[in-house]
Amino acid sequence: MTTLLLVEDDEGLRKALALTLRARGHQVAEAGTGAQALDLLGRKRVEVVILDLGLPDLDGTEVLRRLRTTSEVPVIVLSARRDEIDKVRALDAGADDYVSKPFGVDELLARVRAAVRRTSNREGRVVRTDDFTVDLGRKQVVRVDGAPVHLTPTEWGVLETLVRADGLLVATADLLSEVWGPGYESQGNYLRVYVGQLRRKLEPDPAHPRYLITSAGMGYRFDVSGA
Ligand code: CA
Repeated sequence: MTTLLLVEDDEGLRKALALTLRARGHQVAEAGTGAQALDLLGRKRVEVVILDLGLPDLDGTEVLRRLRTTSEVPVIVLSARRDEIDKVRALDAGADDYVSKPFGVDELLARVRAAVRRTSNREGRVVRTDDFTVDLGRKQVVRVDGAPVHLTPTEWGVLETLVRADGLLVATADLLSEVWGPGYESQGNYLRVYVGQLRRKLEPDPAHPRYLITSAGMGYRFDVSGA
């Protein structure tokens, strides 16, 4: 069961959709305006927001912008507008997904499930390799033989950022600003030191890393398969 906030000013559509979503086992809070939506989000724990772009008081993208200042809740945007630019604007403003009206409830529910999955991945994922396991929720690394690997907070920060990138390259500057904070983007030597330490703690052969891969002059990535 997921707690949804449905923001839609067309009352007939909202009621009908809320009814269907409840019949499928979800809890649904309803808002008819952007102001109501922001108010509810400030008071209630919501797992996914379904947001109509055309609202009477605030534009949906404005609602998105405001809620993104305080919340990372997944947002699926609904729009009747055919314009590609609206989709781009909504995604730029922080929407996670987009459904065009008219849509089927099954399509919407599939998007809701995908959004929930992404959130739980973000929060409590456990990533297993042949040699060790990274538990993102518990902030722990355990070797296959069960021995915990002790990492410093900075080492953990580097590893976590790379693991969360799902195998994608993380640019050196992004990694530095993520772990050390803004202003450290040019301190590539810090990273070389910490990635070296991580390799000595995690890699079976630190001189030939399988997992913590350097892309020369670009950044680093975490290769789960360790191929
Ligand atoms: Ca509308």
